[in-house]
Amino acid sequence: MSERIELLPEHVANQIAAGEVVQRPASVVKELLENAIDAGGTEIQLIVKEGGKTLIQVVDNGAGMNRADAELSVVRHATSKIRKAEDLFEIHTMGFRGEALASIAAIARLDLQTRNGKDDLGTHLKMMGGTRESVEETVIPQGTSISVKNLFFNIPARRNFLKSSKVEFRHVLEEFQRVALAHPEVSFKMTHNDAQFLNIPESNLRRRIVNLFGSRMNDQLVPVGEETQVVRVGGFICKPEYAKKSRGMQFFFVNNRFVKNPYLHHAIMNAYEGLLRPDTLPGYFIFLEVPPDTIDINIHPTKTEIKFENEQTVYAILRSAVKHSLGQFNIRPVLDFDS
Ligand code: ADP
Ligand code: MG
Repeated sequence: MSERIELLPEHVANQIAAGEVVQRPASVVKELLENAIDAGGTEIQLIVKEGGKTLIQVVDNGAGMNRADAELSVVRHATSKIRKAEDLFEIHTMGFRGEALASIAAIARLDLQTRNGKDDLGTHLKMMGGTRESVEETVIPQGTSISVKNLFFNIPARRNFLKSSKVEFRHVLEEFQRVALAHPEVSFKMTHNDAQFLNIPESNLRRRIVNLFGSRMNDQLVPVGEETQVVRVGGFICKPEYAKKSRGMQFFFVNNRFVKNPYLHHAIMNAYEGLLRPDTLPGYFIFLEVPPDTIDINIHPTKTEIKFENEQTVYAILRSAVKHSLGQFNIRPVLDFDS
């Protein structure tokens, strides 16, 4: 008989875990968009109000869920994406930890409507602060719609830490861009404060970049390509004369997952050496493909940091691929800028 130790109730455990998964509205956007992608959605809509502070909603036309799955989807460690420990070495989906919906439901109001291709009626599940309020049948098209309101209503410290709608919207947009870049084959719509903000058709990567960042991008992009046994490098870099003082156009994807990696950023900066004006950063949209068992995605709950088995080799190959592209397009060294 234990004397002092007790297992925490599930909703408390979920609230603790939520602290790591959900930092701000943009974290919710990331998780919901990734779930829509994993469900095979080809048309995905994101609706936010006040930078996501009052509403975040994602609607997809993907596989949907039956009632039992819908009820399980908000339970922690419940996932359809892996079955056993070995699967961790061969992840093909954005999610696999089975904690996003449970975490979000623990710290907000979550409204889930979903229908799969087999059932005539869908399921409408309402959760508030980790407790189920209702589950009913509903008439909806195939797919899933999840809306999140009252984020952090039960965590005052987090709620008060939220920045202005403008700042939160910038973070939301950044997450949206990351998912939209990784999936040019999916069409996206985005609405902010009831006004349509973006409406981008399915296309290829080049056109997706132009749709997201403006038509001037088309002249700036230089393709990158290199293939070895350790890594395949693809995507685009921007010509050095378009480098900017501000961040915002630096994107790495590893096996189609956006990651942050200062070490690989360094490889790119190194390749641009001598071509950039002081304190400017080139834009890049780099896609790396590596065998899934040579990376570890599972070092942080948000999965934006990963570990490579062959980090130095990847660095060298990336650097040489970028150098090669810059050379091939006959890019002028920095001294020529004023001439
Ligand atoms: P994970 O994505 O890691 O599995 P989540 O908590 O994000 O965990 O989602 C739990 C489960 O709910 C998923 O494994 C999936 O089966 C289901 N699910 C979530 N969102 C959707 C969606 N948009 N369409 C269909 N199924 C979904
Ligand atoms: Mg998920």
